[in-house]
Amino acid sequence: MAAITLGISTCLLGERVRWNGGHKLDRFLTDTLGQFVQYCPVCPEAECGFGVPREPLRLVGDPHAPQLVTARTRLDSTGRMLRWASRRVRELEGEELSGFIFKGASPSCGMKGVKVYNEQGVPKASGAGLFVRVFMDHFPLLPVEDEGRLHDPSLRENFIESVFTMKRWREFLGRKRSRGALVQFHSAHKLLILSHSPGHLRRMGRLVAQGSAMPINALYQEYQQLLMEALRLKATPAKHYNCLQHIAGYFKKQLSLAERQELLEVIDHYREGHVPLIVPLTLINHFVRLADEPYLQQQYYLHPHPLELRLRNHA
Ligand code: SF4
Repeated sequence: MAAITLGISTCLLGERVRWNGGHKLDRFLTDTLGQFVQYCPVCPEAECGFGVPREPLRLVGDPHAPQLVTARTRLDSTGRMLRWASRRVRELEGEELSGFIFKGASPSCGMKGVKVYNEQGVPKASGAGLFVRVFMDHFPLLPVEDEGRLHDPSLRENFIESVFTMKRWREFLGRKRSRGALVQFHSAHKLLILSHSPGHLRRMGRLVAQGSAMPINALYQEYQQLLMEALRLKATPAKHYNCLQHIAGYFKKQLSLAERQELLEVIDHYREGHVPLIVPLTLINHFVRLADEPYLQQQYYLHPHPLELRLRNHA
């Protein structure tokens, strides 16, 4: 797979672009995830020309359409930021982003929960930063997360799995389009989709099976929409358990009674919360190699992202 490019709020990389000349270096993003992706940094406030250091900005007014205002001098900078943001997102089209990591709680970069002040200077509600709004309107299907939420192991796994899937989808779109190719892509992602949304798996299966009646571009478009919708639904322990049971069903013939018993016990230990997801998956990967099971061998669910990220050690 070619390098994955992620957009990121520049201050998270340790660049001193914050209003006070500081940064918000995140070591997981730079030292761990940074080994597997390349970053495309964006600092809306510095790039928009507010300078470093600068007077802090805040959101004011209607939480659904707030204004971006300097905190002390009350200068309304909404139009300036929105004009810059709509130019910047068009430039970002050329970067082939597979996702974006935003700095939380910022009036420009925060995805949600950013304080919105009333005219008296009292925080009365919360909303999203101005640049994030423009970005998400422009790239509605891209996986996005804020750095604070990425400290939650299950949200982190969810986001990174979506990023890697988005990258595979992008590469797939670069090849010759055909219904047969889409069937293969879908087949390799079935268990991964199942772990997020059994309902989407059913709809996508019907779409792929009945796709011969649709123009190929419309078929791909609808499939992409459903794929990204499914990935936004969190893969919970209960959904993983369902998936693991499903996988165990494939080994009815290939494994001895004792081996099957061992697998089912480990899956139960996962359901009861005694072991993380990596434990049953390691055993399953071992049995997949032994049994030479072609359907399971191709499943991205069993290896959705590099093991070194250790995302399933806590899931
Ligand atoms: S939160 Fe966004 S606007 Fe603020 S310093 Fe970081 S990148 Fe720049």
